[in-house]
Amino acid sequence: MKQSILAIKTLKEAPKDEESVNAILLTRAGFIDKLAAGIYSFLPLGLRTLRKIENIIREEMEALGAQEILMPALQPKENWAKTGRWDSLDVLFKLKGVGDKDFALGSTHEEIVSPLAKKIVLSYKDLPFALFQIQTKFRNEPRAKSGLLRGREFSMKDLYSFHANQVDLDKYYQQATQAYFKIFDRCGLGEATYLTAASGGSFSKYSHEFQTVSPAGEDTIFICNNCKKLAINKEIMNETPACPTCNGMGFDEAKAIEVGNIFKLGTKYSVPFELTFKDEKGQEQPVIMGCYGIGPSRLMGTIAEISHDEKGLIWPESVAPYKYHLLVLGDDEEVKAAADTLYEELIDNKLEVLYDDRSLPAGQKFAEADLIGLPWRLVISAKTLKEKSLEFKKRTDDNQNAKLIKITEAIKKLK
Ligand code: ATP
Ligand code: MG
Repeated sequence: MKQSILAIKTLKEAPKDEESVNAILLTRAGFIDKLAAGIYSFLPLGLRTLRKIENIIREEMEALGAQEILMPALQPKENWAKTGRWDSLDVLFKLKGVGDKDFALGSTHEEIVSPLAKKIVLSYKDLPFALFQIQTKFRNEPRAKSGLLRGREFSMKDLYSFHANQVDLDKYYQQATQAYFKIFDRCGLGEATYLTAASGGSFSKYSHEFQTVSPAGEDTIFICNNCKKLAINKEIMNETPACPTCNGMGFDEAKAIEVGNIFKLGTKYSVPFELTFKDEKGQEQPVIMGCYGIGPSRLMGTIAEISHDEKGLIWPESVAPYKYHLLVLGDDEEVKAAADTLYEELIDNKLEVLYDDRSLPAGQKFAEADLIGLPWRLVISAKTLKEKSLEFKKRTDDNQNAKLIKITEAIKKLK
């Protein structure tokens, strides 16, 4: 992609109406644009990053044997009335359709997926299976000041699993936990993310959250300082003075962002929707369910929160909108031609590159490249061309650590 035609404008200053680090940096770097509190457009660079995160999640869901579907965001009141959540879920957006019919905008999909599964499941032979979607959710969040961390319209991956018995659910829950850790590892958040016991399991003592340590987090967690594997959400700390994994009694307190959340739902939704199956003896039994959420847009905000410096964003390679940022300096025709040729070669070799081909001062190009935060910077100037070379450095390297590589060897080296 040539920056001369890229539809973004970067900003030198923080936008006045943003408080959070992620929103300030992502807006300044031209990844997102705010429409209203908690409501953002994803611009070309931002959408590429969001899609990369979603694709990592999609791959890990498919590896878990889950099947992708897409359910409606516009949902009739009847489904929500059945579980009582039409009245009890305060973040539900409600609206009127023709004939004064009531609808909700989907904030989660248990009320939709349960009656859908009822049409698929007849007997124990139809179980187990799991369905997931990556979809826009709507929640009338009272506080929406944290940029992508708390949207009123946001992206969610929600997975629902259906089982004939508790043992099968427990097994899948473990596998889903491992899949979640793979996702956070691949997004560069693995080290900072803790499996965290939380209240709210309707079928088990705990539900589990995945909490990424960051000062921007709204939650407080206690990380077991013995096994360092498990944390406990502060909300339930009083009841559980010992680590559920190793029985350790010492904890380190930290602020954290809830990036994912998994629940053993049991029969909470299968009962109201009469989602049952015939067991081996021909007896009608309620299906046992699990649900597993993750927020791709919140993940993107979390990466921005924990991976940046005073100059701008620092994207992990796996989710960077492009891997390489090629900059051409000066207006010399020969230099420009060399950069144009390298750009074409990078594309021919399927290497993802953003090319700053604009006529701008070098300082401005460097500053913007640091702000956007692609993993590798390549510079061609009159000085490097004298050596038949380009300058090559990692976003996190100092300028002094930039290396010269021969242009003729560039493709081979970069590959
Ligand atoms: P929170 O306690 O932060 O409001 P939640 O418990 O309501 O989260 P879930 O309903 O379990 O979250 O949603 C699953 C996942 O969707 C969360 O783990 C999070 O990653 C993401 N998510 C939830 N609410 C939002 C939001 N308002 N904006 C962006 N992502 C969200
Ligand atoms: Mg919530």
